[in-house]
Amino acid sequence: FTPQELERVRSDFPTLSTEVNGHSLTYLDSGATSQKPLAVLDAERRYLVTENSAVHRGAHSLAAEATETFENARATVARFVGAGEDEIVWTSGATAALNLLAYSLSNAGSGGADAERFRVGPGDEILVTELEHHANLIPWQQLAARTGATLRFVPIDDDGALDLDDLDRLITERTKIVAVTHVSNVLGAVTPIELFVARAHAVGALVVLDACQSAPHLALDLHALDVDFAAFSGHKMLAPTGIGVLYGRRELLNALPPFLTGGSMITTVTMESAEFLPAPQRFEAGTQPVSQAIALGAAVDYLSSVGMDRIAAHEELLGQQLAEGLSAIDGVRLLGPAAGERRTGLASFAVADIHAHDLGQFLDDRGIAVRVGHHCAQPLHRRLGLTSSTRASTYLYSTENEVDEFLSGVTDAITFFGVRP
Ligand code: PMP
Repeated sequence: FTPQELERVRSDFPTLSTEVNGHSLTYLDSGATSQKPLAVLDAERRYLVTENSAVHRGAHSLAAEATETFENARATVARFVGAGEDEIVWTSGATAALNLLAYSLSNAGSGGADAERFRVGPGDEILVTELEHHANLIPWQQLAARTGATLRFVPIDDDGALDLDDLDRLITERTKIVAVTHVSNVLGAVTPIELFVARAHAVGALVVLDACQSAPHLALDLHALDVDFAAFSGHKMLAPTGIGVLYGRRELLNALPPFLTGGSMITTVTMESAEFLPAPQRFEAGTQPVSQAIALGAAVDYLSSVGMDRIAAHEELLGQQLAEGLSAIDGVRLLGPAAGERRTGLASFAVADIHAHDLGQFLDDRGIAVRVGHHCAQPLHRRLGLTSSTRASTYLYSTENEVDEFLSGVTDAITFFGVRP
């Protein structure tokens, strides 16, 4: 971006000009949740002010308009991630999407025409990686516990890199599901998904992609990646909370039984039984987060208008600036890819003898917002010999100046806390 373009983008995000602790805000926590541009807030408000109605139900004109706006948002989001409209299921977020999938898979195993195809049981294996966010780990642990399947994982090395030499040994005829993150929320490393997809599909296993940290930051084409399912959250990509997506290949979604049942997802109901609509409605029981979905449509329109390739390039520069800057500070241990190696626009690090919470507090006093803790990835931190780390994460509106402010803050914190490397 030119400085003028970046200024224009920043002026769309009112939160960025707030003050925190007497300093202008330096927001480096977009990996946790992004700020929202006025265009998104306006789209949600416009819907609530002018069209608010029950979608897919009313015979009246307002309901028809609301339904059209709601379904247009689905089409917009589908195009944004290279999917078909009927392959986009609204959920409340990625966590809900992954749990929905894990429960639908265990429902499938218990009977029905497609039971064999989705069956997960004793002797079967579910493969994850050691760097997963808990949202893409615990639902699979629980599915394994419900069905008697075995959970296995691709380990990481001392630097946090996936040990891909193990893939051939770990993906076997027994593997039914391979659930893997596209971009690590702690390390910023991009997973070579093609390797997972090729090996998983060779043995007939389903691939589930956690796209929470890729959909907001990289141009994503789910059909091209050839994954079977994917999950992401709206709030990390300029939309409000309460909206997320489960993507599934059309024929898989239509063969999979629902998880939640109730209104809006049926064709015929008797006192004894019910028949279900095709996807996506069969997974959307009850009243949906309509205004939030519409806001997500506006969010991806905003991202597309800026250009995902340009956003990714901007953030990669900031990611390198973070990695280089942190590596140059004595006493800092950068996690994940070394400076110069590919990473997205985030970096986590640890400083021996300074607790991440103290560091976070020190930075907060200067108006610098970062994430501290285990970032919902305890096994990853344990493997790296840590209980917590500090993460700075950028987005399209982040600037080199902000990264410089942050790097000075870390340097000063190390002096302040008297840590001698
Ligand atoms: N996976 C990854 C990689 C994430 O970063 C997050 C959010 N921190 C999630 C899953 C869960 O997303 P949500 O909390 O929005 O459901």
